[in-house]
Amino acid sequence: MKSILTFFTLCCFSFTWGQTSPKIYDIIDNISEDELRNKVQTLVDFGTRNTFSDTLSNTRGIGAARRWIKSEFETISNSCDNCLDVFYQKDFVTKEGNSRVPHDAWVVNVVAVQKGTKYPNRYIIMSGDIDSRASDTMDFTTDAPGANDNATGMAGTLEAARVLSQYKFENSIVYVGLSGEEQGLFGGKGLAQYAKNKEWDIIGVLNNDMIGNIEGVDGIIDNRTFRIFSEPTPPNETENQRRLRRFYGGEVDGISRQLARYIHKTTKTYLPEMNPMMVYRLDRFGRGGHHRPFNDLGFAGIRIMEAHENYTQQHQDIREENGIKYGDVIEHVNFGYTKKLTAVNAINLASLAWAPPAPKTVAIGGIVEASVKLKWDKVDGATGYKIYWRDTTSPTWDHSRTVGDISEFTLEGIVIDNYFFGVSAIGENNFESVVTFPNQIMR
Ligand SMILES: [Zn+2]
Repeated sequence: MKSILTFFTLCCFSFTWGQTSPKIYDIIDNISEDELRNKVQTLVDFGTRNTFSDTLSNTRGIGAARRWIKSEFETISNSCDNCLDVFYQKDFVTKEGNSRVPHDAWVVNVVAVQKGTKYPNRYIIMSGDIDSRASDTMDFTTDAPGANDNATGMAGTLEAARVLSQYKFENSIVYVGLSGEEQGLFGGKGLAQYAKNKEWDIIGVLNNDMIGNIEGVDGIIDNRTFRIFSEPTPPNETENQRRLRRFYGGEVDGISRQLARYIHKTTKTYLPEMNPMMVYRLDRFGRGGHHRPFNDLGFAGIRIMEAHENYTQQHQDIREENGIKYGDVIEHVNFGYTKKLTAVNAINLASLAWAPPAPKTVAIGGIVEASVKLKWDKVDGATGYKIYWRDTTSPTWDHSRTVGDISEFTLEGIVIDNYFFGVSAIGENNFESVVTFPNQIMR
């Protein structure tokens, strides 16, 4: 009798959970503003973290900075039964052929992998940058605190690792400090190629670059809004995929855009005080970031970033001119905001790492019919699926219907021409994959 009662309690408790999980609220609560402040201060104290700066000193330069980051990951790993595999991943860059490389050097990334229990070869990645720069990107000796750009992203990545290492996940999570960002995205290129060589199945990359400034050069002060940059479609798609898109759609539905929508939705659900702003472009106008090298190889990846930048406080030597104080110093970082954006990352890493894979293929049909039909490949580990649709002009998946452990469904009375459609997979624990946009046509 007792066991029946226990079963009954368990079944109904999980049923009343609905779509939100108490574990996700715990993760948000555990992100520490003090930890973030201390980490950014330590990074700033290395004086400069220019990729071509001193590597021998233990107190100044990129070498000291990366050794400290590695030791931080190792300390975290020690308190989770060695749950992190911590290593350097490096590539040699040469002055020859690179206009922004002052001398030959190793570009060294620091990587920490928390292996998944069920899908160890599926990886969700959070990145920040180790390196900083002065006004002249070739200048590797002048102080370049890089407090916001990008000690905040690096500290956020370390802090997410500290909090999430206390949990077990089905998919692997990678926490990474990338280097060589300011001279040509070298670190991201190196790690993306490493992942491809190792045949990592990448769920997505959450690249954090500047997550601490709330006072824009435009005069706006805003500690709620942040940007999620995502490119529309993968740059390495085939000519045939491009041609088919004219007839079947998908211009704003590439894999990185689905990842952006996922982050938007998770934030709206668990951090309702925040305003996630999806920006429909790869990055800021004419500027770059470390998610791009991953996109180049066909991986999903987005950039998370403050909404209002201050250009007198990035890529500037510390100085005062005409009453304006230049420089990326720690005094300008708002750690309450950095904490929120770190939480945005952590809850999305956790949700994706607890979710089953998205359906690989989704077929759609219903041409000249009153209803749309969807058919998908069943996913190992999924107990249900969610069918989404939205107006063609809407940025978000506004309508949905949850179905059980089946592999096809007809949405009666929904006409294929008037909406975009997609399907996600849901696990036993209620966590959900990203949405797969239809990639096959049923005639
Ligand atoms: Zn920068």
